[in-house]
Amino acid sequence: MRLSKYSIPTRKEIPNEAEMVSHQVMLRAGLIRQHAAGIYSILPIGWRILTNIMNLVREEMNAIGCYEFYLPALSPRDLWAKSGRWETFGDDMFRLKDRKGREMCLVPTHEEIFTEIAANTIQSYRDLPQMWYQIQTKFRDEVRPRSGVLRIRQFFMKDAYTFDTAQSGLDESYRLQREAYIKIFKRAGLEVKIVTASSGAMGGGDCEEFMVLSESGDDEIVNCPACGYAANQEVAESRIEKISGTQSKLEQVHTPGKRTIDDVSQFLNVEPSKLVKSLAYVAGEGMVFVLVRGDHQVDEVKLEAEIGECRPAEPLEVRELTGAEIGFISPIGIDNVTVIADLALEGTTGLVAGANKDDYHYVDVDVERDLNIDRFTSIRTVQSGEPCIKCGRPLEVSRAIEVGHIFKLGTRYTEALGANFLDENGKSRPIIMGSYGIGIERIMASAIETHFDGTAMIWPREIAPFLVEILPLNMSDKQSADIAENLYTRLTQEDISVILDDRDDRAGVKFKDADLFGSPISVVIGTRNLKEGLVELRIRDKDIIEKVDVKNITAAVLKALGKYRC
Ligand code: ATP
Ligand code: MG
Repeated sequence: MRLSKYSIPTRKEIPNEAEMVSHQVMLRAGLIRQHAAGIYSILPIGWRILTNIMNLVREEMNAIGCYEFYLPALSPRDLWAKSGRWETFGDDMFRLKDRKGREMCLVPTHEEIFTEIAANTIQSYRDLPQMWYQIQTKFRDEVRPRSGVLRIRQFFMKDAYTFDTAQSGLDESYRLQREAYIKIFKRAGLEVKIVTASSGAMGGGDCEEFMVLSESGDDEIVNCPACGYAANQEVAESRIEKISGTQSKLEQVHTPGKRTIDDVSQFLNVEPSKLVKSLAYVAGEGMVFVLVRGDHQVDEVKLEAEIGECRPAEPLEVRELTGAEIGFISPIGIDNVTVIADLALEGTTGLVAGANKDDYHYVDVDVERDLNIDRFTSIRTVQSGEPCIKCGRPLEVSRAIEVGHIFKLGTRYTEALGANFLDENGKSRPIIMGSYGIGIERIMASAIETHFDGTAMIWPREIAPFLVEILPLNMSDKQSADIAENLYTRLTQEDISVILDDRDDRAGVKFKDADLFGSPISVVIGTRNLKEGLVELRIRDKDIIEKVDVKNITAAVLKALGKYRC
């Protein structure tokens, strides 16, 4: 690409509308333009990056014998009604009607359509296993599209699906996909952590996410540097020492106006960890009491996995159930309500809990004796420093971006859509499926989040829009212009992606833009060095700057690129 022939300008200032680093850099470098919330155009330099990502994903998928398809983004309701997801996708699904009034959707993910193809084509165990994928546009009406392309409403996903006759086959397909994912992210220059994740409402088997550590991430992950335990906060657990106090009778104490954990803890002079935090939620079946230790937080994803969709109860609903204000409640003496308690409370005694009477609490609460608990389960947010569930050493909690997700689906879709095969005994059985997704734009954004140093971007080589940038600092100097032109032609002939800044601009402008374009290698052609027959070769991703004889510059660039012949 010649910058003199390209009209999309870079931006000097940090755009007000962009919060995240990746969004700022993408706007400044002219990679994307926004049209509406979560709806973006990808401009030529951004498109080169996405194309590189797609190609390397393709290479790794093809290498494990996964075959590429291209499925429609428009799909009639019937298929989704069969799987039940016409309902469960809710408002995340973009819905429309065709001219005959038939209901359709813009596809948010392709399990149903791939399964329908399998149902129509796979007949017997001899046709299995199969691995299929596509790189296709997905549409999701996200509740909160994020700034930049991390969470958008129209995006590219590589989605793969595996079809097997038995669990052992699925295990092997899953392993192959997992290995391919490890290679893909490595080649894309991303350091990923593989974490156990929630299989959500679909139930089913193993499920892992590929996470890039970044403050801009929407997810939180918990990991143990000592033993390698790693899980999404949504399913993470920790080992907590049980708190036990004296074993005596419940006693009511006056706590006037003390509604919060901190207030009660100070007033009674007890640690927050010795308080029971009682929260009332409204779920499908009615009111549910949710209990965690005073120093812990309820994780709403874990909670919903336990009791389904729910919302905190309103103050009036709480008073109707307990007779008290929100700060003074607990399940003590309350019947006909489900009580779920966090595992950290199991077997604890000597605690403080609400008395269901304004301005009163109970002390010496014995959790199992007094709180009518239906079940103990993991519903708290794991905090940094808590002991690892596996080895007891301190856990780390960090924010992360989910770039990939692999999932043993089982027969959830094949049963619903009648995708069966005949086994060796001629018996019809549902095919066993796995599903594997990668967000293409998210890889681009994650690469910026992790490779932009505050002033300059350096793209990982395999996804860089241009491997080499040529910077003739003074285009009116004929010798500089000729050398630049010559190098541009020769590298292009070698099939190397090159950007040539042949604009008649100041050196400062060119350097600033080069920082945004982020080529791992640049060649700076300046008149002062040229007097000695030299140009400057910057191997930016290795932090090397060297002066090279102008006659050897092509060879030196090829050498710096390593894998190319020289
Ligand atoms: P999230 O929890 O972030 O919404 P998800 O669990 O809905 O992701 P999957 O359905 O597993 O995501 O999709 C596979 C991959 O597609 C994700 O790992 C992510 O990289 C990408 N992806 C999902 N939603 C979006 C989106 N709205 N914008 C961009 N990429 C997305
Ligand atoms: Mg999502």
